[in-house]
Amino acid sequence: MMNIQYHSAEVIIFESTLYQTTSTLLISASTLLLVDPNWSPREVQFIHSYIREHFPGRRLYLFLTHADFDHILGVGAFPEARIIASEGLQHYPEKDRAIGDIRDFDARFYWSRSYPLYFPEVDIVVEDHRQVVQLDALELHCFFAPGHTREGLMGWAASHETLILGDYLSDLEFPFVYDHSQRYLHTLDEVEWMIQNYPIRIAVPGHGQAMIDDLGEMKRRLAKDRLYLSRLQRFGRGETSVVFDDLIQSYAFARGLGEEHERNLEKIKSEIGE
Ligand SMILES: [Zn+2]
Repeated sequence: MMNIQYHSAEVIIFESTLYQTTSTLLISASTLLLVDPNWSPREVQFIHSYIREHFPGRRLYLFLTHADFDHILGVGAFPEARIIASEGLQHYPEKDRAIGDIRDFDARFYWSRSYPLYFPEVDIVVEDHRQVVQLDALELHCFFAPGHTREGLMGWAASHETLILGDYLSDLEFPFVYDHSQRYLHTLDEVEWMIQNYPIRIAVPGHGQAMIDDLGEMKRRLAKDRLYLSRLQRFGRGETSVVFDDLIQSYAFARGLGEEHERNLEKIKSEIGE
């Protein structure tokens, strides 16, 4: 069994017990688009069985938002699927490390997977910002989303009025800056542009609660993420009015996120003087 966070005839959002990681399924008459299938071996198996049982014979595509190991570990369970991801993911410089991260994680929990682990081979490569990929009736607009990671990708499905955010706009996590804080802010600007220019009924972050018919919540999360980043930048530049620990106190799982917060600070400091 697996938690299903949201369910309609067109969209299903699966939710893992680990880090509330989501995997979204977009459904159309002939085509299925599955985002970042995850996490435990049983959960990946559940999603696979669910699709085979409820939607037999439909063409399956996987959309990968980025190369962090929790977002690519389920790929080997869907060898029949065609994979859509960014050029950056196709040429990801640390493919072996990503697979190593999966093996390390699984080893810690004595998890074995009944499918092979490998770094995804991309079939449909997104090479341009705002590139449109047509999958039968499903029209997917793809956006480069660097900042969290360099190879990040978001997708807006016009047919489903659904926005796939990857690891942005989570209600549980402040921005994790593995790439660059300025690019992160720029990607948030891009999300704002999407909100202004597209109808968005559903917006799904990689971790936490999806936003359903709730533009207000999207804007609140945008503002909160921007505030976190700007305060962290100020703290990194030595402004004493900013209290480092206070920046994350409003997050539900703050006590588990201290290490990521520290890591962000190191990152921000390394950016100063670039
Ligand atoms: Zn990530």
